[in-house]
Formats: sequence, C-alpha cells, structure tokens
Amino acid sequence: MSSRRLPSLAARILGAVLVLSAVPAPTATAAGPPGPAAAPTVRADEVMPHLRALQQIADRNGGNRAHGTQGYADSVAYVRKALDRAGFHTELRRFSHGGAAGYNLIADWPGGDPKHVLFTGAHLDSVKEGPGINDNGSGAAAVLTAALRVADAGLKPTRHLRFAWWGAEEEGLVGSADYVRKLSAADRKAIDVYLNLDQAGSKKAQQWLVVHDNEHGETEAQQAFEAWFAARGISTFDIGVGGSDHESFGNAGIPSSGFSTGISDCIHEACDNLANVDPKTETTSTNALLGVVWKLAATARH
Ligand SMILES: [Zn+2]
Repeated sequence: MSSRRLPSLAARILGAVLVLSAVPAPTATAAGPPGPAAAPTVRADEVMPHLRALQQIADRNGGNRAHGTQGYADSVAYVRKALDRAGFHTELRRFSHGGAAGYNLIADWPGGDPKHVLFTGAHLDSVKEGPGINDNGSGAAAVLTAALRVADAGLKPTRHLRFAWWGAEEEGLVGSADYVRKLSAADRKAIDVYLNLDQAGSKKAQQWLVVHDNEHGETEAQQAFEAWFAARGISTFDIGVGGSDHESFGNAGIPSSGFSTGISDCIHEACDNLANVDPKTETTSTNALLGVVWKLAATARH
C-alpha cells in the first residue's frame, strides 16, 4: 500500500476518518482484469470523508455552500488544496453573477493529447436552503476522488484529462455556461466528451440514470457507463442532456454523458445533509466514474 493512498490524504486533511458500514460495496470484488490498465476502485471510506468535509464547511458557514458565500469559497479551497497536493495544475475561473463573484475550479492533469480532452465535472455549489451534500457534494466528491486516483496511479493518459467543479449551477448553470462561452472554437473542438455527475449518492437509488446525447447519438462514454453497470448487474435508464452543467456543453455542440442517481427524498433543503447520502451508492458511482475515465483516457478517437 502506497503512502500516497487517498485515505491517508483524507485523514490528514480532516484529522478523522468516518467509520462506515462494514458491508462491502458491490463493486469491491468486481474490479476489471488484472494488469496495469485496470481501473482502480475505492471503498466508502475513501470517498465519504470528502462529503463529511463539505458538511463541516456548511455547518460553520450558516448551513449552506451557495454561490457568493464563504461556504462556497471554503468548498473550492478544500477541493483545490487536495488537487494541488496531488500534482494537478489548478486555476480559478472567475465570473460575476447576482452581484457576487463566482468561481469555477479547473484542474488539469499534466500530459495527454491537448487536442483530445476527456473532461469530467460536477457542480460544487449548494442552494441557500441547505448544505447540498447529495446535490451536489456527492458528484463533486466522486469527481475529486477519481482525480486523486489518477494522481495516485501516475496515470499517463492518451487523452488529456481535465476536471472541473462548477459554481452557481443552482442559479441556472451559470458557472459552466460562462466557462464554455469563453472557450475559443479550437478549445471547444478539443473536448472529445464532457462527463457530468449531479446527485451521485441518492438513497434508495434503484437505477443509474445515464446521460444520452441526442445530438451526437450514443457516445462512447454512454456506452462505457452502460457496459460498466451492466457488468455488475446494475440497471440503468437513459436520460437526455439537460438540467445540469452538461447542458452548457451541449448548447455549444460538445458531446456529453455522465449520470445521476436521481432525485432523493430531500433536495434543496436543510435535510440534504450527510445522512441524505447512501455511502454504498456514492461508492458505486465513484467506481463507475473511475472505470469509465480509465477506459476513455486510454483511447483516442482519431
Ligand atoms: Zn445539482
């Protein structure tokens, strides 16, 4: 076990590691074939500490992590610190909305073909009414965990890997729309596919809702997600592009996929807290993302 493993990193950041259910995630024994190309998998105690950190950030900032608040700024600082320590190139993209500064956090993993970008993101803001732990701490934590695993593995991808945590999604996809609008035509063209996670740890999730891009048809990403879930006996349902940040990419003609575990019992209220996330679902979502990122990182279309 490498000393750079995520649990120790998370423990150093938080000073504590959640004690979670001893029941293994269904994917824990379902790793891919052995060999250097096999995607890593994580356990619940490797992703849930990030959600606990986001809950603590909300707790000390009036109960939310909304656009324009200290809770959002602290959320960005938490994610950025972990990425910087892991060796990512990070930057904040500032925008202005509703009289307040907003920020997208962009992280690039050095290497890979800059003309073929595999781009993965999740919104990091909550609504003002609550801490936003399933919507969308869960997606943000899954994307962070996947990014840190890329660093742990010292992955040398064929494609260039970029990750983003979007601001002001809850105000109408504002951060991602601002980011995409400011891309040059060449930058937009370089993005092979955008993968979005929004609500990745919903309780009582029965199906994973996989994004189908109507404009581009069944993307390799959609196929990869569906194959990953099918191989583990998990049922999926196709949903269209829309309602989260992949819509901003779709509006610019950029192919997208990703998934959601669906609307939970509590959304956009104070009860969307740590108890509103099922650690097993969150772990499965993270492992699905890892599996697909590993697969798509190693292949280029042209
Ligand atoms: Zn959301």
